Amino acid sequence: MPNCESCGRKWNWKNTFIKFLRFGSGIECLYCGEKQFVAPESRKRVGLISISPSLTLIPAVLLKLNLPIIISILCVTAILAMVLALYMIELSNEDEPLW
Ligand SMILES: [Zn+2]
Repeated sequence: MPNCESCGRKWNWKNTFIKFLRFGSGIECLYCGEKQFVAPESRKRVGLISISPSLTLIPAVLLKLNLPIIISILCVTAILAMVLALYMIELSNEDEPLW
């Protein structure tokens, strides 16, 4: 879980998840109220992880799996990707450009 760069406290899973859904313009730390942004490096990693569920479709289609199986694989990998993404988020005090 990410640590607030301002006060150094660790965010819990539930709060990170709720705030993650609204990330973009920065979010306030629930401990110190300081605005935090996702660090560009971790934003890139999260982006890569979030496309991984669709990559699992390629072998699934090649192996001609049944649609219900493909959908279950997609759901499982999507949940895994979301959980992994939350663990990879790093926070920053400033909204730094991605590149
Ligand atoms: Zn804080």
